[in-house]
Amino acid sequence: MTLPKRSWVEISLGAIASNYRAICDLTGPRVTVAAVVKADAYRHGAVEIARVLEREGAAWLAVSNAEEGVELREAGVQARILVMADGPHVADLNLTPVIHSLDALAEVKPRTAYHLKLDTGMGRLGTREPAAVLVEAIRKCPGVLEGLMTHFASSADYIGLQTEEQMADFAATAAALRAAGSEPQYLHACSTIPIAYGRRGAWHNMVRPGMALYGYVSPARGDAPPCELRLTPALTWRASVLEVKDVPKGAHIGYGAGFITPRPMRIGILALGYADGLPHRLSGRGRMIAAGAWAPILGAVSMDLTTIDLSAAPQVKRGDGVTILGGDGELVQDAQMLAREAGTISYSLLCGIHERVRRVYVA
Ligand SMILES: *Cc1c(COP(=O)(O)O)cnc(C)c1O
Repeated sequence: MTLPKRSWVEISLGAIASNYRAICDLTGPRVTVAAVVKADAYRHGAVEIARVLEREGAAWLAVSNAEEGVELREAGVQARILVMADGPHVADLNLTPVIHSLDALAEVKPRTAYHLKLDTGMGRLGTREPAAVLVEAIRKCPGVLEGLMTHFASSADYIGLQTEEQMADFAATAAALRAAGSEPQYLHACSTIPIAYGRRGAWHNMVRPGMALYGYVSPARGDAPPCELRLTPALTWRASVLEVKDVPKGAHIGYGAGFITPRPMRIGILALGYADGLPHRLSGRGRMIAAGAWAPILGAVSMDLTTIDLSAAPQVKRGDGVTILGGDGELVQDAQMLAREAGTISYSLLCGIHERVRRVYVA
């Protein structure tokens, strides 16, 4: 028996493939695209996404930790896998470590290829040692320095100069290493935003897009050049209507009577709640799309249930699907719109979609 779906996501593998191609076309043949599939590919499903990317020719993927890399290897993924936030031990798992400190560098085993991360201003992972110290430590290390990388803290900010400062710092260290005879094959610094807004001086010969693969580029602040990527959001999120009912004026809706009907209303109760990843902060705010019309969220988002206003979509009946993310008729809601309403960011909204939300892959 196939159980009816409570809430589900449809993931377009075609959209992932075309987003990947758009990034490759923009960055050109001299730039290697290391596709970021960490956090279960931003909840799109790391194994399926990695397979599509491999079919599209991706030679490099990037994940956060050893577990994520092992999941891909066990699924038969052949591409190189860069592990961005773990340790040198991942090399024993046929994964490529990013090294963040002299301590970790000292643990790299002979002939192991590694990427060294510089903290040029992100203030998170990465070494802040001066170039002269790095040169010595690299020379002593029996591994092979394959990549030199950094990460930008403010790449969407076209008002301040932090990105320019980080770019200069990165270039200076790369030049000092080169002068001392250390020339890694790959230099990389860019995630989605500096790719999309065409910060070509920072692309070097490898880029690390994540969000762009899934169809999003965050808006920039200040005098940003136009976004050069045309992308399609790959994920659509829907939920089933468990019940439809008509309530009188003055009816109390949900925990804490968070909403009181100002008039007789038709409401829909959805098989979806914060345990599925719908932010509790959407209580009494935000909306969904039902039968091509906006359906505002009424009262508190509960663990497994959410109530919506079906006044504009009276034809909706028990068992129908409504759209949380995606299009229905003329209307579209994307992760940036809903995240803004919830006081969060699109990344967090997507990553928060719970495992129990069933996944359906479509072409
Ligand atoms: C997550 C991550 C990326 C990808 O970022 P997007 O904004 O999703 O493109 C790139 N590099 C590092 C170090 C990351 O942690």
